[in-house]
Amino acid sequence: MSHRVVFIPGDGIGPEVAEAARRCLEATGVAFEWTVCVAGEAAIAKHGTPLPEETLQAVREARVAIKGPITTPIGTGFRSVNVALRKQLDLYACIRPCRSYEGVRAPFHHVDLVLVRENTEDLYAGIEFRAGAPETHELIRHIKQFTQEALREESAISLKPISAAATERIVKAAFEYALAHGRKKVTAVHKANIMKYTDGLFLEVARRVAKAYEGRVAFEDRLVDATCMQLILRPQEFDVLVLPNLYGDILSDLCAGLVGGLGVAPGVNLGDRAAVFEAVHGSAPKYRGMNKVNPTAMILSGVMLLEHLGEQEAASRLEAAVRQVLREGRCVTYDLKPTRDDPTAVGTGEMADAVIAALNAPRSGSKFEVRSSK
Ligand code: NAD
Repeated sequence: MSHRVVFIPGDGIGPEVAEAARRCLEATGVAFEWTVCVAGEAAIAKHGTPLPEETLQAVREARVAIKGPITTPIGTGFRSVNVALRKQLDLYACIRPCRSYEGVRAPFHHVDLVLVRENTEDLYAGIEFRAGAPETHELIRHIKQFTQEALREESAISLKPISAAATERIVKAAFEYALAHGRKKVTAVHKANIMKYTDGLFLEVARRVAKAYEGRVAFEDRLVDATCMQLILRPQEFDVLVLPNLYGDILSDLCAGLVGGLGVAPGVNLGDRAAVFEAVHGSAPKYRGMNKVNPTAMILSGVMLLEHLGEQEAASRLEAAVRQVLREGRCVTYDLKPTRDDPTAVGTGEMADAVIAALNAPRSGSKFEVRSSK
């Protein structure tokens, strides 16, 4: 059976890394039927909008997509195409594994944790009031009336909505991920001691959901500031972390840093009806078209896609091939070399070729050699 998957190349380095991942996925032998759709700059040129309805419809129908990063356009009315895509498809869970790979220079080794970030609420809901606007003055008056707190008249305000319903589904998603992937513990991260109503609700609901998993997956909660310190001191103590949107965004970059940076950080935005697989990194426009950047994060997002499709054996083989290429350290991009100007660095496409070669000869080691593209 072939899997129908929507393929969105994206902007900047997106088309290069997405194509590298697509070639690696094809090389596993799993059959795919790709529906190529545009979003971002290519979509503006073709449809006059960065997020055309036909792209959304294609993802709704196929329920699975792999997407290159998209540049946030300025002045189109979209805060971010990525945020709009998540909202339109209700992709409420952002799942980002952070794993140490031998050969990747990183401050820590043996890290293997997963962040599950809520995608739809919190300060990232985009409900903001501009400083000096009439509605902001009115809101400040209401706040004074309800709380006796006198905010400065020139303040700007962002709202932080947290609901029981959204918290329940993200915490369930974290526990279900833990169960499906043999993980032992979920840590809820919050600041409930200060934000008693919003983070307090997040914690209360997390504790309630955790009860249903008692005896199968352990549960603990930690303050976000303490978590940051403990992640730096003892990252090996963490397994699955579940977080509201803002903390999730910040801690996922922190955790990517623990294992070597954005070049090796994969992810998925997941809802009940669709899943969009994508790297954590953005479109790095300055490297566009240079065949230079690291395709690993996109290829590992492809590994997650294979798992999602139930192709566990192919997922394990592809991850092993990536692991081998990283460990050997020969056919890797500039960012994985000891120095950024290392003349032996290869290009995006050549690193994907090396992964494909390792995939085809996993036990004998990668015999694949490429000349430096620089
Ligand atoms: P970025 O991740 O695109 O790039 C920051 C730097 O990280 C790059 O200059 C580069 O040095 C390094 N880098 C990123 N990916 C790399 C890779 N694969 N290999 C090697 N080095 C890599 O972040 P940015 O510059 O803040 O954002 C650029 C654009 O991307 C913005 O328009 C932003 O909105 C967008 N963005 C999109 C997504 C997404 O589509 N999911 C995510 C983040 C940012």
